[in-house]
Amino acid sequence: MPHLVVKLPNTAGEYLAQVRYALPFVSEDLVAYEIRESDGEVRVEFRDGADMQEMKTRVDRLLERYSTNEFGLKTKVNFEQKRDLPPIDAWAGMLERKWATPVGEGHAILRGPAAQLMALIDHKVLSVFASEFQAELEIFPSTIRSETLQRCNHFTSFPEHMDFVAHLKPDLDVLKDFSTACRDEGWAPRHHDGRMSVNDFAISPSCCYHAYEGMEGWDLEKPGRSITAILGCHRYEGSNHKYLSRLRAFTMREVIWVGQPPFVINSRARSEALIEQWARDWELSCTLEAANDMFFTDDFSVKASFQRQQEAKRELRMDIPSEGGSLSVFSSNFHSTTFGKAFGITVGGRPATSGCVGWGCERWVYALLSQFGFDPAQWPAGLREEYREFTSAGFPRKAATAAV
Ligand SMILES: [Zn+2]
Repeated sequence: MPHLVVKLPNTAGEYLAQVRYALPFVSEDLVAYEIRESDGEVRVEFRDGADMQEMKTRVDRLLERYSTNEFGLKTKVNFEQKRDLPPIDAWAGMLERKWATPVGEGHAILRGPAAQLMALIDHKVLSVFASEFQAELEIFPSTIRSETLQRCNHFTSFPEHMDFVAHLKPDLDVLKDFSTACRDEGWAPRHHDGRMSVNDFAISPSCCYHAYEGMEGWDLEKPGRSITAILGCHRYEGSNHKYLSRLRAFTMREVIWVGQPPFVINSRARSEALIEQWARDWELSCTLEAANDMFFTDDFSVKASFQRQQEAKRELRMDIPSEGGSLSVFSSNFHSTTFGKAFGITVGGRPATSGCVGWGCERWVYALLSQFGFDPAQWPAGLREEYREFTSAGFPRKAATAAV
């Protein structure tokens, strides 16, 4: 198989994380890659027949794109709690117990205690955070106008992970031909060729965009509004998909604030204090630290540095002992007036600021099982008690995920 071995211009952990994330999007011809940290190089394999000159140019371009950032700077850690935990392969254990079933790339069904644990996470967010901020419940569709994402500048930062929605052309012949082809030959992607209508929607890559477009043109009462919502989101991650830690279809719960700057900033700070308390109560091995998004496009460096300098993004990262790394399970974000201006939302006549905190629900399940294993009796007392109380109420059997 044709391959390239390329020297890495930087070997800082954050640089490698960005490169790992972005490499699968270099070309459809890329089959696999391996970062050899000790040799300071990356080996990339391509399909037979790939234009290797072109592939070399692309890999160089990508490695170069991320090398200009100030990686290697010390990450600002706001909170840290470390525990010595044995490695547990949570995904293998869930499969073995039928707590999870993979149903296609980056898609999984959860059941049993894994599903109950996820319902508990959501229940805790509602009972602790939503009530603290008297957040108003909003119900969002899973899909969102591409036009709205354009207004949120989403495509200029994260084009790689979009999952678009499309339907067949409303046309008698097209519908008949498609249906005949499926009957005669079975469904295949080629039956869509030339038969799809124009694309107008995408599956929402994030929970809170609907909140802003829903308030378009509103002038809010001071100090502002607090909202909560849960959404089944999609992000396509190429060969980076990993069950439960990087799903294509995942669930996000958010609490969102839109209003005057002190209202948004103080609410965000209060929610970070609450998440630290949660980490202490459940004895999580974790850190709360400054972070940046994995921007894919060429202006990566500017956007990522801006986020870090402004501490516009902080993440709660839980250790995954079996992987020797950590996983972001919660993020806290400040958007300044970006969405207020994009959607003409004002508070007392001035552009509103916004911020949000979000929980990656499946990631919480994965991280908790990775840290504490499959027997609730062995879990830290705080988690064990809340889980017991929650499941004994009989609640999770039906209503817990009704809002999803
Ligand atoms: Zn958000």
